[in-house]
Amino acid sequence: MNKNKYVSVIVPLALHNTYQYLIPDTILESFPSSASLIGYRVLVPFGNRILTALVVSEEDTPKVEKLKEILEVLDTKPLFNEPIQKLIRWMSDYYLCTLGEVIRGALPPILLASSKCYFKSNLTNEEIEKLKLSKNERAILNILEGKKQISLSYIKQQLKESSVYTSLKKLEEKNYIIKKIVLPKSKIKKKLTWQISLTDNITDDEEDKLRKRSPKQYEIIRQLAYNKKYTIDELSSSSKTPLTILKGLAKKELIKLEKIQIIRSAYQQITPQKIKELIPTKEQTKIIKKIGNLIQSETFHTILLYGITGSGKTYVYIQAIKEIIKQNKQAIVLVPEIALTPQTVQRFRNYFGERITVLHSRLSDGERFDAWEGIKKGDYDIVIGARSAVFAPLPNLGLIVLDEEHENSYKQSNPAPRYNAREVAIMRAKYTNSMVILGSATPTLETYYNSKIQKFVYTTLPKRIEERPLPPVTIVDMKKEIEENHWHLFSRLLHNKIQECLAKDEQILLLINRRGYSAFLQCFECGWIPICPNCDVSFTLHYHPRYLKCHYCDMTIPIPNTCPECKGYKLKARGKGTQKVEDELIKLFPSIKMARMDLDTTRGKEAHYHLLKQFETAQIDLLLGTQMIAKGLDFPNVTLVGVVAADIGLSLPDFRASERIFQLLTQVAGRTGRGELGGEVIIQTFRPEHYSITNACNHDYESFYEQSIRERNELSYPPFSRLIRLLIKGKNEKRANNAIEQLAKILKEIREKEKFLSFMQILGPAPAPLTKIKEQYRFHIIIKGKQSNELHKLVRKSLYQFKLPYLTYLNVDVDPQSML
Ligand code: ADP
Ligand code: ZN
Ligand code: ZN
Repeated sequence: MNKNKYVSVIVPLALHNTYQYLIPDTILESFPSSASLIGYRVLVPFGNRILTALVVSEEDTPKVEKLKEILEVLDTKPLFNEPIQKLIRWMSDYYLCTLGEVIRGALPPILLASSKCYFKSNLTNEEIEKLKLSKNERAILNILEGKKQISLSYIKQQLKESSVYTSLKKLEEKNYIIKKIVLPKSKIKKKLTWQISLTDNITDDEEDKLRKRSPKQYEIIRQLAYNKKYTIDELSSSSKTPLTILKGLAKKELIKLEKIQIIRSAYQQITPQKIKELIPTKEQTKIIKKIGNLIQSETFHTILLYGITGSGKTYVYIQAIKEIIKQNKQAIVLVPEIALTPQTVQRFRNYFGERITVLHSRLSDGERFDAWEGIKKGDYDIVIGARSAVFAPLPNLGLIVLDEEHENSYKQSNPAPRYNAREVAIMRAKYTNSMVILGSATPTLETYYNSKIQKFVYTTLPKRIEERPLPPVTIVDMKKEIEENHWHLFSRLLHNKIQECLAKDEQILLLINRRGYSAFLQCFECGWIPICPNCDVSFTLHYHPRYLKCHYCDMTIPIPNTCPECKGYKLKARGKGTQKVEDELIKLFPSIKMARMDLDTTRGKEAHYHLLKQFETAQIDLLLGTQMIAKGLDFPNVTLVGVVAADIGLSLPDFRASERIFQLLTQVAGRTGRGELGGEVIIQTFRPEHYSITNACNHDYESFYEQSIRERNELSYPPFSRLIRLLIKGKNEKRANNAIEQLAKILKEIREKEKFLSFMQILGPAPAPLTKIKEQYRFHIIIKGKQSNELHKLVRKSLYQFKLPYLTYLNVDVDPQSML
């Protein structure tokens, strides 16, 4: 027997090390001698807790004496294969975060549960009074007094900033309190049910006998005659069928009774629809062939599929996946938003039937657990999901598709790991000799640049299906509207077009750029604007019901009647939130059937799906929404797209602001003219001459790219450099500010010392553009460098020397997407 007795594990905490444990003999024996524990989850004691940890290596010698033992092996098959383990290490390295943070980002929380700790007091109130105790100890005992048990997290929360652990320990030693540890629930039970099927043993005689003697059993046999198999819940009966009746039948061998697993799946109602077989266009054929050849080669490639909106990219993905499946491999399809999964699931089900599953964070624990188990076992060829589905544990990955690769949501901004699913997909593909397809009508400048320098394979679908033209776009200069004394939310043109559209029974999409920022309250006498005291951003005005709400910390306050500054009464709404536009529309078109789609109306898992279904079945004439409605929708009856205010966001202090506006306008324009009815787009703006707007108007990605890439080059922004953003926040402004200055000092010192780092640019420290969020002051430093590895070296060295002061927090963001 040749077995390693020690394993090193990653624990799901913000710690940098791996930790070694001893495998007890009981576990060793239950394992086949060839088996390795690498990639399995185990339960381990860690400090005061029991954690779910991931085994990453095995050793035959202990690193220290007296190792603790692992308590239990949780999986029957490894959770992660070798390439994913490599990926985890790469992520921790590249994104400058801990291994524990990486696995927390990669695994659903249910698979990484930790123990819960509870305390109970042994003392009565009088006894507590008499004792000599520290302030903290007394406080803890008072919390526990008279209660059955109280969780550690509650105690910590109540005592806030003081050190709870020492006090708890002392109390425990003196036997004043008792600690109870509840094991983590990191294994979810499978959902089982009884399946009933008819055997061939029944004869006419037997049936007759049953009818007379046991009508209940007879009823079941009759039902099974229609449909040979039922689960117990499917048997139609006035009350639930008692198991004893079934067991009776099984005993006579007239039916077979089996326990089977029910797979919990959120998208079961989406069943394959019959579709007509599409004949690929010339361009599609060419690309499919090219991709097919690359797939045959079984070597890593990243392919950019730059195809304008409505050019048939999805068909290309589907054909590529068919190739992959032929090779007995599997594919991941990433979509930028959970809300878009039902649509995508539908389209893929039509082609691939049941061998598809979905992974995203809004699934229930049971659904996620079943999906993970099934994926591991190889039950699915395709996983569709949002960002974190890039970690789906497919046994033999062949392809990752990122649809709408330019979308911001592929980057996780909080908490760590602050990764970009696009980069992670590319690394995972590298480690598995797989392919990545990045699809978009508006690729990020970085991706397009990479295809120009031939790091990525470039493919393009330059025309819409059936040569449908891209819709004509008209810009309305809102400054002119005002000059001509037309002070309304809707310009005369947009107003008329909406009217026409409604008259013709065609559908309309109306985009309001942002939910926040837009509608706020202002005093028209002195200019006062109500600002959230926690976050230093203006409150957003909500109308139904009426209140002011901060969209960073969720604080709400009633709408004031008078201005606290000048005591005036002229408090008026400024800007245009979705709700304001909704009111205006109802005023102008009283009989309009409309729906609003924004974060407020789509909180539930399926809210989105239902809204879109209503739109698809024409129960709604007009869909009003934030950038959510700009993505991926394919409704041929939409003949008008209106953008109420295109420039919101153009002046944000972020070097990607103009790229984002261009993407948004191009994408939303792409939502119309997709059917025989054609369509048109109207964009209202105060900055009609801005190149983001004019180029989007002409559907001219190339010109936009040329101008932007020149600017990026001049200012040395990505892709001509790499950035790391270091953000420090804290409630104590001075402390946070001191900390960032300290960090800047260290960075600069290291840059001075090491010659090869001298070209790194250190911008800041400065207050972040959003200076305060949720009562925390925010300061940042942006570090810019040509070479990613040098940049990493500088930051890693600095962080090593830097000591973060008490109650301040540091976010390290590599390749940041937001500068706010
Ligand atoms: P994109 O993702 O590029 O915006 P889609 O894949 O949504 O485009 O395709 C747009 C529309 O064209 C869809 O309704 C799709 O079914 C249809 N389509 C795609 N390929 C073909 C084809 N070869 N022949 C006919 N219709 C097609
Ligand atoms: Zn005022
Ligand atoms: Zn706030």
